[in-house]
Amino acid sequence: MKIGVLGAGQLGRMLALSAYPLGHQMRFLALSEDNPSSVLGKTFIHNNNNNNNIEVIKKFSDDCDVVTYESENTDVKIIKEISKTTKVFPGNKSLHHTQHRGREKALLNKLNIPCAPYELVNSFSDLEKAIINIGLPAILKTTKNGYDGKGQFLIKSESQINEAWEKILGVESILEGFINFKRELSLIAVRGIDGNLRYYPLVENSHHEGILRLTIAPAQKISKSLQKKAESYMHSLINEMNHVGVLTIELFDIDDELIVNEIAPRVHNSGHWTIEGASSSQFENHIRAITNSSLGETSLKSKFNAMINIIGTIGPTDRVLENSNAHLHLYNKKERENRKLGHITLTSNSYKELQNSIDNLSVYLP
Ligand code: AMP
Repeated sequence: MKIGVLGAGQLGRMLALSAYPLGHQMRFLALSEDNPSSVLGKTFIHNNNNNNNIEVIKKFSDDCDVVTYESENTDVKIIKEISKTTKVFPGNKSLHHTQHRGREKALLNKLNIPCAPYELVNSFSDLEKAIINIGLPAILKTTKNGYDGKGQFLIKSESQINEAWEKILGVESILEGFINFKRELSLIAVRGIDGNLRYYPLVENSHHEGILRLTIAPAQKISKSLQKKAESYMHSLINEMNHVGVLTIELFDIDDELIVNEIAPRVHNSGHWTIEGASSSQFENHIRAITNSSLGETSLKSKFNAMINIIGTIGPTDRVLENSNAHLHLYNKKERENRKLGHITLTSNSYKELQNSIDNLSVYLP
C-alpha cells in the first residue's frame, strides 16, 4: 500500500523503516525537504503561507491509500480535507480528544479513569478561582500544542500567578493539581481495524526538564494487578475512541495507584525500545493496524531493555557501538539544544548487565 504520513520527523522515519519490509511505500507531507523522513519517501511540501497549499494536500492524499500522522498537534482542517478521498487512521475522535487537554481530561472523567484534578482557565480571573479550588502547587498547561514540557508553568506560590499567566501568553489553559508521584510509567497498545487489541508491558520513564531521557522496559516491580489496571484504562479509552493504530498513555504511579497524565494517539518515544526489544515494534504494529493486517506479537525478545535519548549533541557514538548489546538510531537531524537527535536501545537478559551498560553510557544522561 501507499502510506502517507502527516509530518516527517523521526516518528515518520521509523514508521517508514518498518513499513518497507512489509512491502509498503511511503509518502510524507512536510513543511520542508530538510527532515528525518524525506530520504525514505516521496515528500510533498506544504506551507500555510502558500496559496497552493490545498492543491499540495490533494496531490498528497491522491497518492496515498491510507494516511496517518505523527503528532496530535496536526491541523484538523488538513485531516478533514484528506478524509474526503482517503482513509485516515487514527480517526477524528482520537485527534479531537487528545489534541486538547481539557477534552482529554473530560474523557478520562467520563470513563472513570483517575487523572489529576483540573479546571479550565480562559482568563486571569479563571486562574485565580482555579487556584482557590485546586490549591498549590499546581501546573498551568496550555490546552493545545504542548509537548516535552513546553506550554507549562509550575505555580508553587501565589506570588507566581502573574508570571505564570504571562509565560503561557494568556491562552486557553487548564490548571492541574500537582501529583506527588513515585515514578512515571507508560503503556503502549495497538488496536486493529477489526478491534483486535494488544498491549506492550508497562515501562518506566525518567524525564529531565520535561524531556524523556531514559526508559526501562519492562518497568521493574510491577504486579500483575497493576499491569491489568493500566490495561483496563487503555481498553476503555482505545475502544471509546474507536482508535486504530498505536495509542500511548502516560501514567503517574503513586504507591500502586495509577493516575493518567496524558494520552498520545501515536507511536511514542517511550516505545522506541520495541524496535529491538519486542517481537514486533510499535512502528511495525502501527503500520500493520492502519493497513488492516494481522497485529504482531508484543512480547519481549530480551528480558530487560533500556532506551536512552540522544539530546542536543550526537556525543561519542563509537563508545555506543563498542557495547555488544547496544543499538544506535540517529535521525539525521542537526545538533541543537534540547533537540531529540537519536536514541540508543540496550537489550539484556540480566538486569545487572543492563544497568552496567546504562552506566557505561551515562554521558548521554543528565
Ligand atoms: P506533560 O507534558 O503533561 O506530559 O508533562 C511533562 C512532565 O511534567 C511530566 O512527564 C511530569 O514529569 C511533569 N508533570 C506533568 N503534569 C504533572 C502533574 N499534574 N503533577 C506532577 N508532575 C507533572
